[in-house]
Amino acid sequence: RGKAEARGSFRFFEPEMDARLQARRVLERDLRDALSREAFEVYYQPIYSLDTDRICGFEALLRWNHPQRGFISPAEFIPIAEELGLIVPLGEWVLRQACEEATRWPDGLKVAVNVSAVQFTSASLVTAVREALRWTGLPGRRLELEITESVLVANPGATTAILHSLKALGVRVAMDDFGTGYSSLSYLRSFPFDKIKIDQSFVRDLCIKDGTDFIVRAVIGLGASLGMTTTAEGVETEAQLAQLRAEGCDEVQGYLFSRPVPVSEVAAVILRWNGASRAIA
Ligand code: C2E
Ligand code: MG
Ligand code: MG
Ligand code: MG
Repeated sequence: RGKAEARGSFRFFEPEMDARLQARRVLERDLRDALSREAFEVYYQPIYSLDTDRICGFEALLRWNHPQRGFISPAEFIPIAEELGLIVPLGEWVLRQACEEATRWPDGLKVAVNVSAVQFTSASLVTAVREALRWTGLPGRRLELEITESVLVANPGATTAILHSLKALGVRVAMDDFGTGYSSLSYLRSFPFDKIKIDQSFVRDLCIKDGTDFIVRAVIGLGASLGMTTTAEGVETEAQLAQLRAEGCDEVQGYLFSRPVPVSEVAAVILRWNGASRAIA
């Protein structure tokens, strides 16, 4: 066995590949270790309502401050956590942290938590959400879960059932990164989403690339006709903001308002945008 395997997989021993595998194994070990030590942190980015001209909530974004490498992007470590089966405990940890934190905010503010496809289809999601609400005392209506299109394609039947169970808890659900996946527009109609988040790739090209304004306008129109809120992600310029406002987008989120901030800075962000009367409890 050894010989055949060695011959068949000789490419593994190319030095470059070997180094990459080595780095990956180190990252896996560090990730397990980080989870056991709770070496993660949740940052919060405000979501701004164009109806009220105030912050209406925050998105919880996971951060891993690696002892040697510094901050590693969730885009890099979430896929590894999914493969290793660590995404379920990690995702439940984020959920509890975010719900707990949100109980300290003024009542009108929601917290949005990202749920990976793997976590979404795990048997424990609905229970985890119910438990997080019970433990922290956060009303379900103040929690929103963000799900990407990949979830729908994998198993539409199970997805519908899970979405309905979540909604029975009063929780809202948002379709994240809309426009980047493979699902068709008709999918949107068949699932009970409360919100569509327009992916930042479309927002980035607003006022720059021909045709993008039209796409954004179409998505906002679609959301409106389906009774869903539309939120634009990655808003960085006043020009983009003006355009989104003109098109009737409901909410915006991006560096123009604030980068994601650590929990210690959330109160200051609320104060800055919503004023003293609506500051943190
Ligand atoms: P996402 O849910 O679409 O989150 C938005 C991403 O855009 C965040 O990146 C945020 O920091 C970034 N962003 C916000 N405003 C701007 C802007 O104006 N310009 C630009 N260029 N970027 C902006 P982040 O925090 O690196 O997260 C990346 C992705 O990782 C998230 O995309 C989400 O899919 C995933 N993620 C983050 N936290 C969690 C988590 O707790 N659980 C799961 N399952 N996934 C998470
Ligand atoms: Mg998100
Ligand atoms: Mg997104
Ligand atoms: Mg994204």
